[in-house]
Amino acid sequence: MGVIGPFDPWSSKMCTCPKKYSLSPYTGCSHRCLYCYITSYISNPFEARPKKEFLKRLTYELERIDRRVPICMASSSDPYVHIESKLGLTRNTIRLLKEYSARFLVVTKSDLITRDIDILKTSMAAASITITTLDDHHSKILEPAAPKPVKRLKAIEMLSQHGIPCSARIDPIIPGLNSDDKSLSDLVRRLAEAGARHVTASTYKAREDSFRRLTQTFPKLEKSLYELYYKKGSRIGRALYLPMNLRLKLILKVKTEVEKHGMSFASCREGLSRLQSSESCDSTHMIPNKTSSIKRSYLL
Ligand code: SF4
Repeated sequence: MGVIGPFDPWSSKMCTCPKKYSLSPYTGCSHRCLYCYITSYISNPFEARPKKEFLKRLTYELERIDRRVPICMASSSDPYVHIESKLGLTRNTIRLLKEYSARFLVVTKSDLITRDIDILKTSMAAASITITTLDDHHSKILEPAAPKPVKRLKAIEMLSQHGIPCSARIDPIIPGLNSDDKSLSDLVRRLAEAGARHVTASTYKAREDSFRRLTQTFPKLEKSLYELYYKKGSRIGRALYLPMNLRLKLILKVKTEVEKHGMSFASCREGLSRLQSSESCDSTHMIPNKTSSIKRSYLL
């Protein structure tokens, strides 16, 4: 099996992403998010380990792929897991992507990405930082081993200051946890202040194991979430979705706030692409086609 593969191997009918490749230097992810879906198909999901002979295989494959197609790093593991600070595998990966003039998007919850600004700012690269809540207490429970929200905001600020196009993901929005109007509008305002140019929002799509982890950790929410997902919601593909009227309400709320602050907006796998005000839902449109000249014009 190759290390670069097509994104969305399950061809979900809800996915509106443009054609792109997916690339993960690690298998598994150390952030241990309660809502994570990789637990349904990766063994030892929260134990991140480097892929064998990764850089050698990557070099071989970079020679052969269509390098005009963007590469998304990563979808089944954060590229900045804990061991990355020692191993530097993601750093070497983006160095290689730059060398091959590949266009790539780095999606992460970690401020460790700022260590690699020196490479990113001279690559055809964009970044997307996920922040689900500004509440440290909730974040610590939901994403126990991921950096604090304030560190992620700082990462957006630093990346933007260096001319690296930066978007944010509010993903997932979980009813009763991070879904109230004030929390969402405060979060969007802070993202805009930090320098994000685009926001993609997504509601929580329940899978049995992640639903169990969430409701065991937040027992007070069990009844309402069960009602919303199992009774009123619908099964789409492998996941349970919230009822459409609630998804629409939450996504519209974020869109209104995002556009109030002059950013573009998209939702992820909601069936609501009519609300999108950006070229792509996943922010791959922010990846420059050239290096320095595009970066400069982005800053103007
Ligand atoms: S960062 Fe993503 S892949 Fe890693 S544990 Fe959290 S949800 Fe899963």
